[in-house]
Amino acid sequence: MIDRRLFLKDLGKFGIAMVVVSACGSGTTSDPASTTSLSVTAGSNTTPPVPGSSSTLASSTTPPLGNGLGASTIWERVNLGSVSAYILARGGEAAVIDTGTAGSAPAIATSLGQVGLGWENVSHVVATHLHPDHIGSWAAVMDGAADASGYAGRADLPSIRSPRPLVGLSDGDSVFDLRVIATPGHTPGHISLLDESAGILVAGDSLNGTDGAGLTGANAQYTSDMAAANESIAKMAGFDFSVVLVGHGEPVVENGSALVQALSSG
Ligand SMILES: [Zn+2]
Repeated sequence: MIDRRLFLKDLGKFGIAMVVVSACGSGTTSDPASTTSLSVTAGSNTTPPVPGSSSTLASSTTPPLGNGLGASTIWERVNLGSVSAYILARGGEAAVIDTGTAGSAPAIATSLGQVGLGWENVSHVVATHLHPDHIGSWAAVMDGAADASGYAGRADLPSIRSPRPLVGLSDGDSVFDLRVIATPGHTPGHISLLDESAGILVAGDSLNGTDGAGLTGANAQYTSDMAAANESIAKMAGFDFSVVLVGHGEPVVENGSALVQALSSG
């Protein structure tokens, strides 16, 4: 039985947070999508998050699996001030998406600790694109997460200096159960990542958060091909998600698909 509910809740100083709570079905399946209900919470408190702070955006608990261990999923925002990185933790493993500006590794480590994990639990590090405010701490994060594989969109890959070889991603690939959506334009190899079961899109700089919980397109000043960037927005509008996690600005916590569709047709 799938039961999806959305509600809003004030979670205080972080301004927004999203919690995904699952309801147990038969308990005999290990497919979270078939047994997960969603509850989304978003704070009405407009106090901006403290730069360098970490806030939990989403968490869920799947029913106990066959081995008796439940698996939980948590999305964590690493607010670095001018830019955000994100952590997806699931079953004691984590993916780090973007690494912020230079010197951001300690803040990312703090956020990992916030969800009870450390560098040794990071299995995937993904860059949405090659810009220095997203890969500024790439080497430090890859050094910290010594067992992790690193990924970026194929066209951006050659521009990213990494302590070890990276895996190039293409449209439709999957990393840590995240669907890769090629969203070129801001940079040629820009990718977005979709958590289909939770309805969460990590949009990098293909979208920007605006004041008032809105979205706008790629920033023309830093975008190499605006026509392609706008085509990418139309492409993202074809997917189903509630939450949009952006590189710059506040995450959108509801009506994500509708906002992107409006942006696309506008
Ligand atoms: Zn950028």
